[in-house]
Amino acid sequence: MAKLTFTKTLNVILLGPPGAGKGTQALAIAASFGLRHLSTGNLIRHNIQAQTPLGRQAKEFYTRGEYAPDHLVVAMVKEELCARELEKGVVLDGFPRTVAQAEALDQTLAEFCQQVDAVIEIRSDTEEIVQRTEGRRVCPRGHSYHLSKNPPRVAGQCNLDGLPLQQRVDDQPETIRKRISVYREQTQPLLNYYGKKHLLRKVDGSQSIEDVTGSIQGILSALDAE
Ligand code: ADP
Repeated sequence: MAKLTFTKTLNVILLGPPGAGKGTQALAIAASFGLRHLSTGNLIRHNIQAQTPLGRQAKEFYTRGEYAPDHLVVAMVKEELCARELEKGVVLDGFPRTVAQAEALDQTLAEFCQQVDAVIEIRSDTEEIVQRTEGRRVCPRGHSYHLSKNPPRVAGQCNLDGLPLQQRVDDQPETIRKRISVYREQTQPLLNYYGKKHLLRKVDGSQSIEDVTGSIQGILSALDAE
């Protein structure tokens, strides 16, 4: 992965329905700009697995394919952001999902004298997403593959940490359709929130993985030049 230089701090949010490619792109963008990758999906799964107090409360929502309530996710993200220095910045994937979460994020970043610099919406249609999530396989640390569109080098094994790949319990077509429709209902106010701040950019998520990465890199590199 080519390293791109970005001279300022860069905090980027990737928005998009489940399965649009946020995790895949967050990994590529974090690696190319030297940023931290914070996936709230992975954070919630980690808290559930480790049976933390927040994870125990989030579990019932997760297994029903529902989003966790704002206060639980905000608490997990705050804990994670404050655990280490923000350094060059962070790529957030799966957060914020509501305007209340966006406001909490703005407040937390302000405590570090930072702000959200770009919000990228990865757009994709429902049928493409259902296909993608049926073939999705993830490692326990959340790295994401696809059986045919993005297969690992060794079948069933993560390229990055060698751990076994599994299908996510919530990657069933019916659960996915439900999550996509919740996403589409909930996200409009968030798009308006960032649209008003002139932070929102859109990319076509139906392109190949490399082309989506290229589109996002182009947007972020142009910001640095401003
Ligand atoms: P999200 O984090 O938005 O839920 P993922 O990054 O896990 O989505 O991607 C969902 C599935 O689609 C994965 O199996 C991934 O390998 C595959 N995928 C991601 N981006 C693309 C793309 N541009 N073209 C084809 N498949 C993709």
